[in-house]
Amino acid sequence: TEAAVTPHQTAIDPAPVAPERDLLSKFDALIAERQALIDTGVRDPFAIVMEKVLSPTLAIIKGRETILLGTYNYMGMTFDPDVVAAGKAALDAFGSGTTGSRVLNGTYSPHKDCEEALKEFYGTDHAMVFSTGYQANLGIISTLAGKGEYIILDADSHASIYDGCGLGNAEVVRFRHNSVEDLDKRLGRLPKEPGKLVVLEGVYSMLGDIAPLPEMVAVAKKHGAMVLVDEAHGMGFFGPNGRGVYEEQGVADDVDFVVGTFSKSVGTVGGFCVSNHPKFDVMRLVCRPYVFTASLPPSVVATAATSIRKLRHAADKRAHLWQNSRRLHGGLKDLGFTLGTDTPQSAIIAVILHDQTQAVAMWQALLEQGLYVNMARPPATPAGMFLLRCSLCAEHTAEQVEQIIGMFDAAGRATGAIGSGT
Ligand code: PMP
Repeated sequence: TEAAVTPHQTAIDPAPVAPERDLLSKFDALIAERQALIDTGVRDPFAIVMEKVLSPTLAIIKGRETILLGTYNYMGMTFDPDVVAAGKAALDAFGSGTTGSRVLNGTYSPHKDCEEALKEFYGTDHAMVFSTGYQANLGIISTLAGKGEYIILDADSHASIYDGCGLGNAEVVRFRHNSVEDLDKRLGRLPKEPGKLVVLEGVYSMLGDIAPLPEMVAVAKKHGAMVLVDEAHGMGFFGPNGRGVYEEQGVADDVDFVVGTFSKSVGTVGGFCVSNHPKFDVMRLVCRPYVFTASLPPSVVATAATSIRKLRHAADKRAHLWQNSRRLHGGLKDLGFTLGTDTPQSAIIAVILHDQTQAVAMWQALLEQGLYVNMARPPATPAGMFLLRCSLCAEHTAEQVEQIIGMFDAAGRATGAIGSGT
């Protein structure tokens, strides 16, 4: 009878074979563009393999000893003997992995110790370790601001911040990169009542510029917003204790949440959020990217804890890193390169090239001389820029920095990026 046929059954197409739609066909243009680039004979900038790693600043790539200038290994902790020893000891004592979530069987004493190390380092009441920095932003941002509330973020924010907004249900408002006026204007337009979270970064990793945090934080507070600062690229070498740009700029009392990563200055993998908010620990129960994933291997958190404790007392390394950054910035500027910032603001120096062809040619010429830098292109970059991003390490010697400048000179001339026809 008609009554026996449910709407669900009638909706099924009786034809046994429907043409299969290739879900990857939407990427055809990208695949073709990448192939066209590789067909010109260049090496694929996104398929580099480190065959051997000799130190924080040297690796073997395609059989050649190569200086690493694109690793974010700012403080060079990856081969620190104490850090490596702590990892080995934890591997022996606790095994290779936890096979579980932090809220079930995945909290081992090294995880608690790592959170203690973070609390000591940041001088905060609470610290929560995530499996990556990406997940820390994903979890904290999506959980803090819910339905009917607002997230206000810088237009040049990292993908993990955008994805944190995407995962949650809050309204998202963007303001112009580092514009205090635009932040003020946009906050002023929002209804007064709902909760608001302003998300900032200490250092913006594409151009290596820093945020005017005192002004930004003052504006956020004026409008009743809470403030989160991502210090992924500031931890380790900004501020007297290496906490980040927010420490250096003296706004620690007004920043509610600091997010960071172990994948840069700390020299391993993992992410975290620290806070003095008295209710912060509830996040452990409600933050999905914390609850529904396995915790870090104990060897990883043990290396992180040791590294973080050493970073507190790394004033000499901080000073040397700044010296390296100033020298490289000055050297590249004198050669005639266009840089992301007029003055050295962080340990990231971004070299701006005209277009993809020039950027790839320059990147390859540097690699052939034995220098690895990061290539960055749209959509990861602001304003459609093609960048070669250099990140310095406290373990780069003054001689290596001179060598690097010499390589940029030669590669720049060979590719016409500098001094062409003049
Ligand atoms: N925030 C910023 C600003 C970053 O640059 C990054 C990584 N590049 C992350 C978060 C994510 O860190 P992780 O590598 O630990 O996932």
